Amino acid sequence: MKRFISVLLSAAILFCCLVMPAAAEEAPKAVCSEGCDCGFSPVVYVAALGSASIYSNYGTDSEKLLFRPGNDALLKVIKEMLPAVLRLIFTKNYDAFGDSLISSVSDMLGDMAMDDNGDSMPHVTAKESELPTDGSHGIDRDYYFGYDFRVDPLVTADKLNAFIERVKEITGHDKVNIKASSMGGVMVMAYLKEYGHENVDSLIFQCCPILGTQVAGELLTKKLYIDKDAVVRYAAQALPELKNGFAEKSLSLLLRVLDKTGVMGRLVNFANKLVPKLADKIYDELLFPMLGRMPGIWSFVTDDCYELSKAAALDPVKNARLIERLDNYHYGVQGRANEILACAKADGVRIMILASYNMQRTPLVESYKNSSDATVDTKYASVGANVALLGETLGDGYVQKVDNGHNHLSADNIIDASTCALPENTWFIKNMLHCVTHGGTKDFYRWFLSGDGDFTVFTNAKYPQFMLDDPKNARLKPIE
Ligand SMILES: [Zn+2]
Repeated sequence: MKRFISVLLSAAILFCCLVMPAAAEEAPKAVCSEGCDCGFSPVVYVAALGSASIYSNYGTDSEKLLFRPGNDALLKVIKEMLPAVLRLIFTKNYDAFGDSLISSVSDMLGDMAMDDNGDSMPHVTAKESELPTDGSHGIDRDYYFGYDFRVDPLVTADKLNAFIERVKEITGHDKVNIKASSMGGVMVMAYLKEYGHENVDSLIFQCCPILGTQVAGELLTKKLYIDKDAVVRYAAQALPELKNGFAEKSLSLLLRVLDKTGVMGRLVNFANKLVPKLADKIYDELLFPMLGRMPGIWSFVTDDCYELSKAAALDPVKNARLIERLDNYHYGVQGRANEILACAKADGVRIMILASYNMQRTPLVESYKNSSDATVDTKYASVGANVALLGETLGDGYVQKVDNGHNHLSADNIIDASTCALPENTWFIKNMLHCVTHGGTKDFYRWFLSGDGDFTVFTNAKYPQFMLDDPKNARLKPIE
C-alpha cells in the first residue's frame, strides 16, 4: 500500500513539474527554505537496533520478514524445539539437539547473515528511513532515522549525513538537534567522526553503547555463565513492562515459587551443563557465521574483548576486508570516543549523555554483576564512569578519582562520574530500564533541548547528576 501511494505521489509530482515549470519557478519559496526563525533546531531521532525491518525477497511472492521475526516465526521455532528437548532428555544426544536448534534458528534468521566482507546478501532488503519531505518541525515532532543494524556504522553515517542535510534543507535551519537511543548512539558517533559536529546544535545519548556492552564481547569470546539469582532478578525487573497488574503479580508469584522450590536452580544447573556441550557447535555453525559477520554487532564489542573476539570469530585472510572495516569503527570511533565528544563540547555543542544503573544485566555471561540498564553496562554508556558492581558500593572512604573542583560521587556511593569523558554532561538514572522512558524523562529532554547555553549537571537543581527513576509517577527524583 505504501509503495502504491509513493508511486502515485511520484507520478503527481512528475506531472506538476512537466505541466507547470513556469509556475514552479515563480512561486514564492516557503519560509523554511529561506531560513526558519522559530529558534528551535529540528530534532533528528536516531533510533535503536531494529528500527528498519529486514526482508528476504522483498516485493516478490516469496517475501519473508526476517527482523524482527513475528510471533508466527517464533512459535514455529518453539514447536520445532519441543520434540528436540524431549529427545535430548531421553537420549542425551547433544549433537542431535544442537542440529535441531541450529536448523530452526537458521530457517528463521539465516538469510540475515552477511558475506565474508560484511555486506548484505543481494536478496535481502532493509527498509531504512527515506529522506524526509515535510518541513514541519518542533520540539514534539522529530525526524525518525531508522537503519539496517547489521551494516558498517560508517556506511550508515553517510546515510545519516544525507538525512541531516535534507532536514536542514526542508526546515530552513543550519543545525539540528540529535537524539540517539541505544544503538543509535553508535551511528551518531560514527557520523561525528566522519562529518564533524558543524551541523549539530545539541546531542542527547540515551542509554547508548558508546564504548560497547560487555555481553557482546563476552558472548563472542565464549565467556558464558548463567547465574540463577541473576536470571530471577532479570525476569522480575522486566515484569512491570507488561503494563498489566494481574499478569505482573501472577508471573512474579510464579517466579518466586520456581525459585523457592529449587526448580529454577535445577533449570539453571541444567543449562550450565548443556552450554559447554553445545557451545562449540553452535558458535561454529550458527553464531560466528551469522552474528560474527555483521559489522553493526561488532560495534558493541568492548575494547577488552575486541582482539580476542576477532581471533575467535574471523579468518584473517577470508575476512580481511571485514576486519579492516571493524578496525575502522573500533579504533577510529569507539577508541576515540572521549576525543570526539570533548571536541564537540569545546566547540559549543550542547551534550547530554544519559546512563542508567542498578539493573540486572543480561544474565548469560560472566560479567552479570556489572551495573547496567539491563542491556548496556553503566560504565560504557556513561563513557568511563567508575561504577560499583551490582549490590555493592565503591567502599567506605572512597574518594573520587579525578579532582575537578566538583563533586561527582553519587550519594549512594555507587558511581564516580569524575572519570567520565564529560563529567559535567553525564546524567545517571537509577533503576531505569534500557531506553524505557515516561513523561518525566521526556520533560527532562525537553528542558535540555529547549534551553540556551551550555547545560550541565549543575544547571538545574531539578535535574542533578544522579536521579532515581519513578515510572509509576512519571518523574525523575534527585538522589540526595
Ligand atoms: Zn524552525
